[in-house]
Amino acid sequence: MNNGTKSCDNKVALGGDVRKVKEAVRNGESFLQKTYSTVSISNEPDKYRTRYVVMRAGERAYHRGETDTSSSAIYLSDNDSTATVIHEWGHAIEYQNPSIGRAARAFLERRVGGEPAQKLNDVVSHGGYRDDERGRSDRFVEAFGKDRAWYVGKDYGGRATEIMSMGMEQLYNDPAGFAKADPEFFEFVIGVLHGRIRG
Ligand SMILES: [Zn+2]
Repeated sequence: MNNGTKSCDNKVALGGDVRKVKEAVRNGESFLQKTYSTVSISNEPDKYRTRYVVMRAGERAYHRGETDTSSSAIYLSDNDSTATVIHEWGHAIEYQNPSIGRAARAFLERRVGGEPAQKLNDVVSHGGYRDDERGRSDRFVEAFGKDRAWYVGKDYGGRATEIMSMGMEQLYNDPAGFAKADPEFFEFVIGVLHGRIRG
């Protein structure tokens, strides 16, 4: 595969015991190699790189597109899991493949329709989000449960989505349950990973 996982350099910037997160990265990449077709990846593999930055424990993982270099940085804390690594790769895949990003935005818009976005802190039982984070739950609740559904429909103002990230995380955690509870979403994620769906 040439979507960057082979050429990524596991840079460790900060953090304490990084053994656990390194193992999570290895497991996450091995899952990706099994599921991600070479067909669906960027046609300019040399242009794209994905690097990891390890933060202090307890900090929230995120992906950041590095627009000047068209590369991705995945920020993880040293206690993050394999599922989180896979989640952040979902963002990297949307970011590094504009046609997949467009397909994910179209899928999200089709699903949420005109449902108004709500503040996550108002609708999610555990709270703890920034005040500007908003989401829509659609029928994501069927596969993701009440709280996580709102995050699947997170509103990034049309710039990004949680579709591939939450979808790939669910595919990793419970593929059979995901396929049964939300076949349309499951098929979308599989279609992207196997190269059948492009924007
Ligand atoms: Zn995310």
